[in-house]
Amino acid sequence: MATVVYPGSFNPITYGHRDIIERALRLFDKVIVAVGTAADKDPATYLATRIGLCRKALAEFGERVEVEGFNLLLVEYVRSKNTRFVVRGLRTMSDFDYEYQMIAMNQTLDSDLEYVLLPTSRQWSILSSSRVREIAGLGGDISEFVHPAVAAHYREHGPGAP
Ligand code: ADP
Repeated sequence: MATVVYPGSFNPITYGHRDIIERALRLFDKVIVAVGTAADKDPATYLATRIGLCRKALAEFGERVEVEGFNLLLVEYVRSKNTRFVVRGLRTMSDFDYEYQMIAMNQTLDSDLEYVLLPTSRQWSILSSSRVREIAGLGGDISEFVHPAVAAHYREHGPGAP
């Protein structure tokens, strides 16, 4: 039974993230979505909210997808889940640059982990959580990009609210 960890800020989870999870489920039995604290990106958004929205948005996958918060070093967290596989999504070459640097750093901490970089479908290649927050913040419609539960959350609370 092979498990892969999909770490990220998921601030909020989008259909681009879901696409990567669907693809990862073709390669692995189980995906653990590990929601990080992202303090440098959006300190105002609470982890518990992001976790809750991920759970709602991914409920359709049942037990094959688990959502958890984490604040350990990624390599330690992955080991604690008794696996050594990490998946990340790729949209553009600039994503690749960023991911490659992250992988290289993590390899210095634990050279035995393996990283799978999955290109997203073209449909989601220009989609980012920060753009979604920006559009939602200005009162725009984000329902094309996120699960209805996420869209409803932003309609109710505005971006960044718990
Ligand atoms: P981080 O802050 O760690 O980059 P994100 O939640 O922004 O966390 O992204 C988590 C992962 O999902 C990253 O590998 C990122 O490249 C990927 N990702 C983000 N948006 C998309 C998308 N639209 N399509 C595919 N992958 C995506």
